Amino acid sequence: MSPAPRASVRRCFISIGSNLGDRLQYLRDAVEMLPDVIAVSPVYETDPVGGPEQAMFLNIVVELRTAIAPLDLLGICHRIETAADRVRDIHWGPRTIDLDIIWIDGVEMDTARLTVPHPRWKERRFVLAPLRDLDSYLVSDDDLAAADGRVRLLGPLDQPSSPI
Ligand code: ATP
Ligand code: CA
Ligand code: CA
Repeated sequence: MSPAPRASVRRCFISIGSNLGDRLQYLRDAVEMLPDVIAVSPVYETDPVGGPEQAMFLNIVVELRTAIAPLDLLGICHRIETAADRVRDIHWGPRTIDLDIIWIDGVEMDTARLTVPHPRWKERRFVLAPLRDLDSYLVSDDDLAAADGRVRLLGPLDQPSSPI
């Protein structure tokens, strides 16, 4: 019997944001719970983009090298959100934690549960700025300039300067 084909290991970027409660701790817990993490961007304090008027976010982007299938990865993201008591009531409303799969090397899919690359990633400076810190080839100057929302660099996740 031939061995089962091995799943390919792919680079993947996940955007994580929080604007409720202890925002930094929620980001740290999420990174801790994600598998196969190889890099974490600096933390940015960012304007909410879309949705009702609400508090500023802290955002990071995390890079994974993983053989986990995209839908299984989405399931992991949802479990991390549930662990942080994420409540989905207001569309684009305040949240303890939000994890979005932004980009997976060689993967393009558009299904009811998952679209990759994320359909709105290029509109959002809170995604592009930390993503560019991890991979400058994925984000052009023009993309960054055209995106919405102000961002302010706070520094590394383990020792950022004080959020506002
Ligand atoms: P946005 O997608 O505009 O950032 P949001 O993050 O507030 O909005 P959620 O309520 O967190 O939206 O997610 C709604 C659904 O989007 C999820 O349950 C998931 O099935 C789906 N989804 C589709 N593509 C993705 C993706 N690339 N990453 C995460 N969720 C996705
Ligand atoms: Ca989101
Ligand atoms: Ca989401």
